[in-house]
Amino acid sequence: MKIGRILSGMRPTGKLHLGHKLGVLDNWVKLQDSYECFFEIADWHALTTHYKETESLKDNIFQMVCDWLSVGINPNKSIIFRQSDVLEHSELFILFSMFVPLPWLERNPTYKEQLREIEGRDLFTYGFLGYPVLQAADILIYRADTVPVGEDQLPHLELTREIARRFNYLYKPIFPEPQAKLSDVPALIGTDGRRMHKSYGNTIPLDTEEEDLKNIVKNMVTDPARVRRSDPGHPEVCPVFSYHKIFNIKEVDYISNACKTAEIGCVECKMKLFVKLNEFLTPSREKRKYYMEHPKEVWDIIYEGNRKAREEAQKTMDLVREAMGIKIWK
Ligand code: SF4
Repeated sequence: MKIGRILSGMRPTGKLHLGHKLGVLDNWVKLQDSYECFFEIADWHALTTHYKETESLKDNIFQMVCDWLSVGINPNKSIIFRQSDVLEHSELFILFSMFVPLPWLERNPTYKEQLREIEGRDLFTYGFLGYPVLQAADILIYRADTVPVGEDQLPHLELTREIARRFNYLYKPIFPEPQAKLSDVPALIGTDGRRMHKSYGNTIPLDTEEEDLKNIVKNMVTDPARVRRSDPGHPEVCPVFSYHKIFNIKEVDYISNACKTAEIGCVECKMKLFVKLNEFLTPSREKRKYYMEHPKEVWDIIYEGNRKAREEAQKTMDLVREAMGIKIWK
């Protein structure tokens, strides 16, 4: 018995990394058992910022779904679908656009922040401003009651709730006001100690092979004050130690003490981490290889997910058209 319905998605920007697994995907895998899950490949959303780079979109979708499947997203439990294959999303987006006041979008803190922070892209487009309206359509078209989000996405979800309220008030109460399901997983930092981001080159891709993984760990930043092997270290400022706290829980106390007393050197400490990380990544890496060798299976999963998603979306659109008085023919 499922306790609710979830919509969550990702923009297809290519291969995923460890931060995605810990921060999002492991949570999705758990939610599959208690919720009816719709997992969206948000390709239109990718275009809001990358509308000039469409040549890699298809491969990015494939790579991302291989990662989803390899970590345990199960198409027998959940619906995996591509946003642009369910055209009803765009219809609902247009209808919402008619009554969403412009200031709701302009005051959105994420919009302002991204305009400031994302460099080298033309973000002064209608599509980018309207991004949260499309996101609202994505969620509400499945009448999802729950959305797993990080703190930073709360303003977007609040906008979705406002749109649902406004629709329900203007026409007919069709939409639930989806609730946020906050994830309590702390963000994994990058291998250089900065925020983990692909553009910084400080991620660990999920498909990293053993030798490459060893090199990544070897090159990880450590406590900058620990210059010589004999210097006592400060594990609390060391990115390697923050990884031990997640992937090598049993040895954390030992490593903390051994670092502070210079009993262990950084090379040995990193090798311990490498072993644990490799154990952690091996099962999904193997599963991923299988999907890479069987692309038809992956596309078939998406195709079937599209069909199921479309069925649900059409039911909602039928109610919406009726409520808005634009349904004339049966
Ligand atoms: S011993 Fe380990 S925790 Fe201490 S500074 Fe070196 S890598 Fe970091």
